Order: sequence, then C-alpha cells, then structure tokens
Amino acid sequence: MSNRIYLSSPHMGGTEQKYVQEAFDTNWIAPLGPNVSGFEQAIETYLGAGNHVAALSSGTAAIHMALILLGVSEGDEVLCQTFTFSASANPIVYQGATPVFIDSESTTWNICPTHLETAIKDRIAQGTKPKAIIAVHLYGMPYQVEAIHKISETYGIPIIEDSAEALGSTYKGTACGTFGKIGILSFNGNKIITTSGGGALVTNDAKVKERAIYLATQARDEAPHYQHSTIGYNYRLSNICAGIGRGQMEVLDDHIVLRREMHAFYKNMFSKSAGITVFEAPSTDYFSNHWLSCITLDAETVDFSTEDIRNALAEDEIESRPLWKPMHLQPVFKDAPYYGNKIAENLFHNGLCLPSGSNLSASEKQRIASKLKRFV
Ligand SMILES: *Cc1c(COP(=O)(O)O)cnc(C)c1O
Repeated sequence: MSNRIYLSSPHMGGTEQKYVQEAFDTNWIAPLGPNVSGFEQAIETYLGAGNHVAALSSGTAAIHMALILLGVSEGDEVLCQTFTFSASANPIVYQGATPVFIDSESTTWNICPTHLETAIKDRIAQGTKPKAIIAVHLYGMPYQVEAIHKISETYGIPIIEDSAEALGSTYKGTACGTFGKIGILSFNGNKIITTSGGGALVTNDAKVKERAIYLATQARDEAPHYQHSTIGYNYRLSNICAGIGRGQMEVLDDHIVLRREMHAFYKNMFSKSAGITVFEAPSTDYFSNHWLSCITLDAETVDFSTEDIRNALAEDEIESRPLWKPMHLQPVFKDAPYYGNKIAENLFHNGLCLPSGSNLSASEKQRIASKLKRFV
C-alpha cells in the first residue's frame, strides 16, 4: 500500500544516482571499483583518524568475517548479547562455534557487564575460555563502553562491536564502531543509511583490513593463475551499491538530526503519560542516532498493552513492532547457554518500536499522533 508508514524506510539524498551513473559510464559493474574505495574513504573520514574500513556485501558477512579474523572455529564459544537481531549471532554458528547469550542491563538495554563477567568466569571454570564477545549498540544506543571493554582487557577476550544500528552514534565523543578490535556496520534497506544491501568491517589495524579484503575476494594468492592456500568468501560490496553509499554518506548527518527529531516528537507526545517511557540515553556521555524510537509500558500503571498500540496503528497502515525477541528465547537457539535475569525478556514483553524514519512528512507525523492520542 502506497501510503503505508514504515518503521524505517530508505531515504535517498539526491546524489546517489550520479555515482551509480558514473559506474555505468565507466563500466565498473563489479564488486570493486572507484565507488567502493570512495565509499570506504568517506566512512573512514566520518569515523575519525586511524580507522580502516572494508566495504562488504552485508553486516552479517562483516560479523562472519570478524569471527574468522579472530580465529573462531569449530568447538569455540562466543559470548553474545541476547537482546539483538539474529544476524548478530548466526555467524557464530556458521563457524561451528556455540553462542553463549548474555542479558542486558536496563540503562542502555545492551550487554550487562555483571552477567558478562559471571559468564566468562563460569565458562573458564567449565574448561572453555570464550574466544570473542559480540556487543551491540542496539537501536543506536551505545553500550556501557568502559565497563565492557575493561572486562575484555582483564580476560583477554576481544570484542566484535556490532554497530549495525549505530552509525553516527558516539560514546564520550568517539564514534561507535571504533572501540572494539573489530567493528561492523550495516547498510541494509532499513538502516540509517542504505546501499540497498551492504555492510562494512571497521578496524584500527591496516593489516586486518587487508586480510579482510583478501578473504572477502575468494582468497586469491599472488600468482598469474588462480591459486588458493586458504578458504575464501565472496563478500565484497558491489561498485553499484557503493555508489548509493557515497551519496548517502553526504546526508548521514542530516538523517541523524531528523531521526533525533522523531525521538523528540515521541518524547513530547508522551511527556505527561504515566506508565509510558520513551527510551533515552542515560547521560550526555551517550549520543544515540536514535535509529529507532522505542517505548516501554509499565504494566501496573496502564490498562493497555503494546499489542493494543500496535493494532491501533495498524488500522491506519502504520507499522510498529515489538522490541527484539531475545536470542535465548528463539527456538533455533534453545539449547545455547544463557546468563541473565530477564531484563531483555521484560523489554521484549513491554516494549514497542515506533515509526522513526528520517523521511516522515508533517502529515504522516499527524497520522501517527492521531492514532496514538487515545493512549496519551
Ligand atoms: C541489521 C543488523 C545486522 C545485519 O546486517 P545486514 O546488513 O542486514 O546483514 C546485524 N546486527 C544488527 C544488530 C542489525 O540490526
């Protein structure tokens, strides 16, 4: 339906087609070319000095590549935030490793330092030291960077920073995606900027970038013929998609302003509503791009559920969605170990994501407001 309002839909800035046209004009229709390197440079500049970026075919591919680069293989264990999208965890299984899920804390909704440390100690006591930690800046909100990275250093377990939803978010002024040994970004159609489909691996080590590109382009050794001494992947971003990405990088900061305006729109709407909380940063150290605006209900105070709100919005073709269902509750991961205390579970039961796009018009916002009025 054409007048449907989505949670988050692609928002083109205007110059994307120019870069795509250039790719056609010069016949760079391949998973390499000037748009790929131009896109990588634009992200490197955006994230700050010392960051190296390899553009890949998806965020999922970037997480898979990160695990490979950290040497995760058959029989290993990887600690992973349970409150996330399944793509954070699936690549652990691609490697034949086992995910160990960790609950969230209630201030940032991300991986809890206490449960993380308990899990590490317990896994070591049981004889397996986990190989990596996957921490997520969910909905654009930075996780507790200092506490989590201190644990990583204490136990010598590297962090893969899943920044798929957090391009443009910062913690104490430093870009999300740049704190871990390896960070990843996503440019899927629903993310803050999109290449239609795409992702990136971020690292502070030029050699890691070089290795990632080598593995992502079928691991060809230097030889006139095709020679391989290791298993390769076809994970590089296409030069066409990267052209869209170059145009999108020019409007990223505008999109962040607009997403944050959507968050302010809901903050304002629910400012006097007892029992409805709009999720926000715990302090000024945390700067969220507010990729999605989320609310939680206090079941003891309100006499309606998130499903009532979702159904009311759906009456007028407005999309909303429950918060991520935790991975340890997913049928596919039912046998995986879990450390926690129901924080993520309660968020899932009491939370809702509301339309948050940077491209919503005044009349669309009006439609949303009029459907939500009866809950305010
Ligand atoms: C979107 C997303 C991914 C995967 O990115 P794709 O580009 O869709 O493969 C991974 N983690 C999180 C938290 C995401 O939201």
